[in-house]
Amino acid sequence: VQEETLLEVNNIEVIYNHVILVLKGVSLTVPKGGITALLGGNGAGKTTTLKAVSNLLHSERGEVTKGSIKYRGTSVHESEPADLVQKGVIQVMEGRHCFEHLTVEENLLTGAYTRKDGKAAIQQDLDLVYTYFPRLKERRRSQAGYTSGGEQQMVAMGRALMSRPETILLDEPSMGLAPQLVEEIFGIVQDLNEKEGVSFLLAEQNTNVALRFAHYGYILESGRVVMDGPAAELRENPDVKEFYLGMS
Ligand code: ATP
Repeated sequence: VQEETLLEVNNIEVIYNHVILVLKGVSLTVPKGGITALLGGNGAGKTTTLKAVSNLLHSERGEVTKGSIKYRGTSVHESEPADLVQKGVIQVMEGRHCFEHLTVEENLLTGAYTRKDGKAAIQQDLDLVYTYFPRLKERRRSQAGYTSGGEQQMVAMGRALMSRPETILLDEPSMGLAPQLVEEIFGIVQDLNEKEGVSFLLAEQNTNVALRFAHYGYILESGRVVMDGPAAELRENPDVKEFYLGMS
C-alpha cells in the first residue's frame, strides 16, 4: 500500500539577508499519519526548514530561493500562514509564544480564530484539548504568563489543536523542559498521532527522545540532510549513536 504524502519539500534553498545561504538543498516528505523528526544540532537549519514550510521567513529577511514545497500536491510556496492553517497545517513555534496576559483558556480560544463553525464545535474541541492536556483544564483560569514552561508548551500545542490541524509543525518541544515533562509532551504527541490521526513534523535537538517517538527521521547538518531513515534504523546506526545519541 502506498503511503499518502502530505508535505513534500523538494531541494529547497534558503537565504537570509540576500547573502547567507542557510539551507543548501533540503528535501523531505511527511506522510499522512506519521511522526517525522527533523534532527540536528544548534544552527543546523531545523527552525529555518519549518519556517520555510509555513512561510514565516519574510519577517526575518529570509527567502526560499530554490526548490518547491507542496502540501497534498499543491504548491504552498506563496501561501500565507493563515492559508496554510485553512489547508490543515499549523506551526507551533519554538519558545511557545503564549499571550501572557490572557488566561490559559483564552489562549486556547485564540487558536479557533480561523474556524467558521459555531460555538458548540469550538467547545467540543476545547474539551478535546482538555482530554489530552488535563493540566490545562486545571489551570484554565490562570494567566498564561504565570504557568510553568511545560504548561506553556502545552498551551501552545493545545492552541494549535483548536484549528483542527491535519499536520502540526512542532519546533523544539523539549526545549528547556525537565526530562519527565519531555516524556509527557512526547507521550501526548504520540496519543494525538494514534488517536486523532494528526501528522507531525517535529524539529528536535534531543535526538534520543525524538527517535523513540518518531517513525522516520532526517538529520540536518549545516543546512543539508546528511542521513534519513526509519527511526528504528537511525537509533541503531553507529554514526547516529556516536554523534547524536551520546554513546559510543
Ligand atoms: P536552533 O535549534 O538553534 O533553532 P536550528 O537547527 O533550528 O537551530 P536555524 O535556527 O534554522 O537552526 O538556523 C540555521 C542557521 O541560520 C544558523 O546558522 C543561524 O545563525 C542562521 N539564521 C537563523 N535565522 C537567521 C536570520 N534571521 N538571519 C541570518 N541568519 C539566520
